[in-house]
Amino acid sequence: MRQNDSVEEFVDVAIEAAKKAGEIIRRGFYKSKHVEHKGVVDLVTETDKACEDLIFNHLKQCFPSHKFIGEETTAAASGDFELTDEPTWIVDPLDGTTNFVHGFPFVCVSIGLTIEKKPVVGVVYNPIIDEIFTAIDGRGAFLNGKPIKVSSESQLIKALVATEVGTNRDKAIVDATTGRINRLLFKVRSLRMSGSCALNLCGVACGRLDLFYEIEFGGPWDVAAGALIVKEAGGLVLDPSGSEFDLTARRVAATNPHLKDAFINALNESE
Ligand code: MG
Ligand code: MG
Repeated sequence: MRQNDSVEEFVDVAIEAAKKAGEIIRRGFYKSKHVEHKGVVDLVTETDKACEDLIFNHLKQCFPSHKFIGEETTAAASGDFELTDEPTWIVDPLDGTTNFVHGFPFVCVSIGLTIEKKPVVGVVYNPIIDEIFTAIDGRGAFLNGKPIKVSSESQLIKALVATEVGTNRDKAIVDATTGRINRLLFKVRSLRMSGSCALNLCGVACGRLDLFYEIEFGGPWDVAAGALIVKEAGGLVLDPSGSEFDLTARRVAATNPHLKDAFINALNESE
């Protein structure tokens, strides 16, 4: 156990854990490029689990009284998790699994800490391009130690938007998803789908992207760290309907303050 339970300590330990897991992802990433045969999915599963085990072990050693919610642990418990007021680490050991399989370099480790259900620490690490995004509640957001801010774009037609199409291929859902994209494309500059919810949020936080929304992603581990990083970079995190963001709802929209109304209107006119 560490000497003092301060937010600085929390973020330092989260960075250590993310870097260690990033090492495993980096090794698997380059290996999977060469070994393109059956078993690639197993390798990813192994990498996801190995990273989650490593991260949880590291965090538990330092903070044994804290609670833990991880994507793989939750999957093993048939999707059940409980978010309480206790300090809770919410972890996606590998966000961007499809990218990992294909050797597309947008993969990351996402580690968030909530206290009283409120995100207080967020760390997102892309080990392939070696970028680490960090934030502490009330103290700003950083990329590789340098402060970051959301974009100052105020015209929707000049905005670069990110979204994802998810994994559900039911006709009605695919039609709703592509219909929304179709209608949005007449109002914005362009669209990106880079395959990682956590990295999309960080993209908005550092101004590479102006806007991001996703509906029906995997779980709170995709957004626990990134939502705080956006907020600390001066951005807004909302439900795509415009109502308050709910960490457990699997719906998110992120924007700079100037574009909020136009973005939310465009998303909902799109419905
Ligand atoms: Mg994952
Ligand atoms: Mg994920």
